[in-house]
Amino acid sequence: VETGRRRLAALIEGASVVLPFTGAGISTECGIPDFRSPGGVWTRNAPIPFDEFVASRRARDEAWRRRFAMEEEFGAAQPGRGHRALASLWRAGKAPAVVTQNIDNLHQASGVAAEDVVELHGNTTYALCLSCGARYELAWVKERFGATGHAPDCGCGGHIKTATVSFGQAMPEEAMRRAEALALRCDLFLAIGSSLVVWPAAGFPLLAKRNGARLVILNREPTEFDEAADLVVHADIGSVLAAFVSH
Ligand code: NAD
Repeated sequence: VETGRRRLAALIEGASVVLPFTGAGISTECGIPDFRSPGGVWTRNAPIPFDEFVASRRARDEAWRRRFAMEEEFGAAQPGRGHRALASLWRAGKAPAVVTQNIDNLHQASGVAAEDVVELHGNTTYALCLSCGARYELAWVKERFGATGHAPDCGCGGHIKTATVSFGQAMPEEAMRRAEALALRCDLFLAIGSSLVVWPAAGFPLLAKRNGARLVILNREPTEFDEAADLVVHADIGSVLAAFVSH
């Protein structure tokens, strides 16, 4: 771990544009289980595909019931050492943005400006109307849900859904474009806490690497791309990155 940390520090020191790219692993120390951990909310139920959400009121009610159950479990989660370290890099001007697959809002909570958090899978801490795009706060949805027993619809008649990307739902185009541009602009790409199996997670590290950037993978288990990386650190994210939190 110590060697990995020293080599990572040297790479960061020598880089001019660092791009952190994060997955569920950065949030496990905050109490939010990653995709694979058995018993986590993510594995307890089969995900509700987008088409089903749109087509069925029962699916929408179920999606919202699950979301409120998650709120009980993880609603109070706070940023961890990994989030705080990346916020320090961002504040120091080393990292222009953070690209994340996470939907938990913890990069913003750690101090990175919302416009500099590029969310590939959206954000679960607020909701949007699928038709007109109006924004809704979860507290409002919860109150309506409690009062009627059903997920509320928007005034325009559209369905209201958390601002996340479900299976079968289109990827957010602007976020994809920005992530690609950032991957091409960086000279150091840090893949942190992602199994790198979910598309498009798999695409960005290689894009950066092929464009001449150094690639670092920080993850406690091996990933598909370890062989392509300039530095692989198989260790706990919080322990490695704690050293990069500036006070
Ligand atoms: P993943 O679960 O596929 O991979 C996470 C990786 O992080 C695993 O390889 C695991 O070994 C590693 N890891 C976990 N804790 C770690 C730690 N403390 N130190 C080092 N490594 C650690 O996650 P993914 O690649 O992000 O893909 C899952 C998808 O599910 C994401 O795209 C995301 O949309 C969604 N998801 C989001 C959250 C969240 O917002 N916090 C949580 C779970 C899943």
